[in-house]
Amino acid sequence: MYLKSLEIQGFKSFANKLVFEFKGGITGIVGPNGSGKSNVADAVRWVLGEQSAKQLRGAKMEDIIFSGTQTRKPLGFAYVAITLDNSDHQLAIDYDEVKVARRVYRSGESEYLINGTNCRLKDVQELFLDTGIGKEGYSIIGQGQIDKILSGKPEDRRELFDEAAGIVKFKKRKATAEKNLDEEKQNLCRINDILAEIE
Ligand code: ATP
Repeated sequence: MYLKSLEIQGFKSFANKLVFEFKGGITGIVGPNGSGKSNVADAVRWVLGEQSAKQLRGAKMEDIIFSGTQTRKPLGFAYVAITLDNSDHQLAIDYDEVKVARRVYRSGESEYLINGTNCRLKDVQELFLDTGIGKEGYSIIGQGQIDKILSGKPEDRRELFDEAAGIVKFKKRKATAEKNLDEEKQNLCRINDILAEIE
């Protein structure tokens, strides 16, 4: 699996539609300070479901929408899409190519799409679980992140290893099953109380 392309429109400094095509090997993005290099990584984070404006170096989510320049009016929406080559089927989806897109309007309305079909944020998150690509993954190492990992709590470091080992989805499923079991236990308790009253 590899990132084939990135499409950006109205996201941060990228007002016009822009498509980055990535070939095999290593791609470097270079440019003067403030030209938008980090905005490219932010766009990838965002389309993968980032919910924190702070992680995207903004104060509020609306800050990711192109806010205009002296010569250009602000835009009303931001759109980012990534296309991944999935011919090795590392992503558990029956397509050789997977396009994940996210769009948000100034009104706050937003949508996620997987291969053109509307979906939930949860679907995007689940698609990338245990691949290292998700927003919690390690495919994007931000400035200062290595220091944070090294000096962080052992539990935080463990999360990284869990993701690499591919066991996060099982941990999540276990947590959901335990929660459901707990609820059922409480229901059973209530039923027993009612039965005791009737008898
Ligand atoms: P450096 O090399 O200094 O780290 P960089 O190339 O990584 O810089 P970025 O931090 O990606 O640059 O981009 C910063 C630029 O993006 C600034 O000029 C800022 O004005 C612009 N920018 C950020 N958000 C928006 C927005 N919502 N609308 C328009 N421009 C924006």
